[in-house]
Amino acid sequence: MASSATRVLVINCGSSSLKFSVLPLQENTPVFSGLAERLGQPEASMTFVEAQGEKTTLVLDEPSHRCALSLLFSQLTRLNMLGSLCAIGHRVAHGGSEFTHSVLLTPETVDKIRRVSPLAPLHNPANLIGIEAALALLPELPQVAVFDTAFHQTMPPEAYTYAIPLEFQQRYQIRRYGFHGTSHRYIAAEAVAYLQLDPAHHGILIAHLGNGSSVCAVKNGRSVDTSMGMTPLEGLVMGTRCGDLDLGAAAWLAKCTGQSIESLCHLANTQCGLLGLSGLSSDCRTLQAACEKGVPRARLAIEVMVHRLARHLGGHLAALDRLDALIFTGGIGENSVLVRELTVRRLAVFGLRLDEQKNLAIRGGQSGVISAPGSPVIAVIPTNEEKMIAEDAAAIAGGRQATLLPANHF
Ligand code: ADP
Repeated sequence: MASSATRVLVINCGSSSLKFSVLPLQENTPVFSGLAERLGQPEASMTFVEAQGEKTTLVLDEPSHRCALSLLFSQLTRLNMLGSLCAIGHRVAHGGSEFTHSVLLTPETVDKIRRVSPLAPLHNPANLIGIEAALALLPELPQVAVFDTAFHQTMPPEAYTYAIPLEFQQRYQIRRYGFHGTSHRYIAAEAVAYLQLDPAHHGILIAHLGNGSSVCAVKNGRSVDTSMGMTPLEGLVMGTRCGDLDLGAAAWLAKCTGQSIESLCHLANTQCGLLGLSGLSSDCRTLQAACEKGVPRARLAIEVMVHRLARHLGGHLAALDRLDALIFTGGIGENSVLVRELTVRRLAVFGLRLDEQKNLAIRGGQSGVISAPGSPVIAVIPTNEEKMIAEDAAAIAGGRQATLLPANHF
């Protein structure tokens, strides 16, 4: 690796999109980023954003991930950035029980990712398309897979086991895996550094609240419980996902509407949550504005979301033996004064209390402590999954093992 190679290209491939960013090590913001959209459709295009915010949108010759990556690499060549890359980090949705941390991509690891892909049929195949295209185009550069599930592989069996006949877990890998692991791992490390917690003895609750949302209980740097399950559908009320739902209710709904399991699953992922409750939007900001105008369904949507969140936070406390901090992150956690206020109000029984003024002041990507004196610490810390992926990729490319918590945080 050239000594001048100090940047990581982070790639996140969806089924019809490809997001990328070029991150210098030790920095929080990309020097180049962008998004290819509508891949697979005739009008596919790719937008590039340079460090100064200058935007260019180009039409793709062919609406494929491979074509988007070739265009990206030619842009990186034009900007003289290709030689500055020390690694590529790929976000991978599901690592099953196979991957407990990030790994160097080799024919063997790619094959293992392929073998766990039936667990995430909407996400892993798209991730693999990006991986294979990038490996073919830049075979000499170390490339690393960073899994959304890996951080939660430290959960004990009682937290990850569904109460169904145990043979199904062994036969079909039906168990809880959890997601948002890269964000939870980043926030856990940031919280230890920012709040000067003892790295060997701490208990943290993290509420990652975005379009997808999850809670994680972190004990001494390790995930011990989380609210998402075998798929990202379980747990909290999200933008368009219902979160926890009685299987009996789902079966009754399927019977009443004549839907197949597949179409019910699609409905539970895309038409429920804040969108289904409000009938208006999946976007928390829009619902807050509607609440202020007195729209009852918008208010109910937010209250159901907050009730479920508080209930999960209370439940996740049982996985810890101490509570040093509750951290809010993600688009809603970082910005919504209202959601933080309504949630913490429901957790008063645990001694958690907000300082109203501090809560009002923290938004728009800032970190800050927002708890009242005497309460366990409540803080807002912006997440940065790209940075975590870049740190892992650089560490593994440099021959080091990616740690559960990045070493430079201590
Ligand atoms: P994703 O999970 O797609 O990464 P984000 O973490 O960006 O999503 O979170 C998106 C959510 O954050 C949306 O519901 C959006 O309305 C919400 N959000 C962003 N800014 C605010 C704000 N100022 N107040 C309330 N909610 C906000």
